[in-house]
Amino acid sequence: MPTLPSPSPRTALAAIADGAGAFVIEPVEVRAPVPDEVRVRLKAAGVCHTDHASLHWPGPLVMGHEGAGVIEAVGEAVTDFAVGQPVLLNWAIPCGRCAQCARGNAPLCERTLARDASLGTSAAGSGHTLWNGRPIERSFNLGTFAEYTLVRPEALTPLPPELPLAQACILGCGVMTGVGSAINIADVQPGESVAVVGCGGVGLSVIQGARLAGAGRIIAIDLHQAKLDRARELGATDCIVASRGDTDHQALIKAVLALTGGRGADHAFEATGQAALSFLPLRLVRDGGNALQLSGSHGEVTVPMPWFQWNKRYLTPLYGGCVPDRDLPRLIDWALSGALELASMVDATYRLEELRAALDDMLAGRTTKGVVLFD
Ligand SMILES: [Zn+2]
Ligand SMILES: [Zn+2]
Repeated sequence: MPTLPSPSPRTALAAIADGAGAFVIEPVEVRAPVPDEVRVRLKAAGVCHTDHASLHWPGPLVMGHEGAGVIEAVGEAVTDFAVGQPVLLNWAIPCGRCAQCARGNAPLCERTLARDASLGTSAAGSGHTLWNGRPIERSFNLGTFAEYTLVRPEALTPLPPELPLAQACILGCGVMTGVGSAINIADVQPGESVAVVGCGGVGLSVIQGARLAGAGRIIAIDLHQAKLDRARELGATDCIVASRGDTDHQALIKAVLALTGGRGADHAFEATGQAALSFLPLRLVRDGGNALQLSGSHGEVTVPMPWFQWNKRYLTPLYGGCVPDRDLPRLIDWALSGALELASMVDATYRLEELRAALDDMLAGRTTKGVVLFD
């Protein structure tokens, strides 16, 4: 019987964080897939605030955790995927067996949060990726700022060929977080009111999620009129230009109350990345409403306890409650039908060599969502 030629290792240009705040763009070697692995050739990778944070994670580390590409080689035990298939990469793969997975809390999977490398692919020690001849870790076991990556099939969701990969690549982090926080976590109901503070990639995704859920009033809040204009295109019904001079947010709170029958919104979301604004949603929701902080802020803030009164729920959702098998195909369907608008959220593209500029533009608020394109 003739044997098929086995795939050989691939040299891939990759962005490698040094753990001390800097990174280099250098070649790595990505080995051939073992039987239950797939090698993906990245075509597009989204740039996220977490990528900037990853510059300080223990390094060296191949950066990037959002991406889409095309399958380039499959292990012999892989039956669900074939070479040439476009795929979306997912950074949080629930194990399906731990106590949190058993409760349906897929993003809180204890093994995912412990960065159990076996959920993505073999541990770095197995040498899946070599840099200067030594094994190297990858951001969230993906490392999408590289021309190739090796993963288990569970990290992949098939993409239809009609969906441009430069748009699809952002589904796996910011879009899922925003849309999922509205639909899965807040469980916005038809006709309910929603306020969103911060209209970057995550905030705009919350707005789209609220629209898809049938929310009545969707109030977008941002310092910049241009961001509010885009929010309106994506589903906001009302826009409030926030002012830095409104230091205790009294004017903002008054404006939201005026739009919500004097009682506050049913749901309010914070997506600014500013720790100081973490508890602002509590002041914008009605009694018994949902206040959600999506920035994942770590900063210290003081909260007057009356802000919680009465019966307000304060939540810090992770990854929009993403259950990959349920949620990612749904997002892809919505993107295909146009119900979920991605094209206008991607407002800058870069080559991998321009990653520094992509990070700087993101940090300065010049981009909603930057995407690194390969080829
Ligand atoms: Zn991200
Ligand atoms: Zn689990």
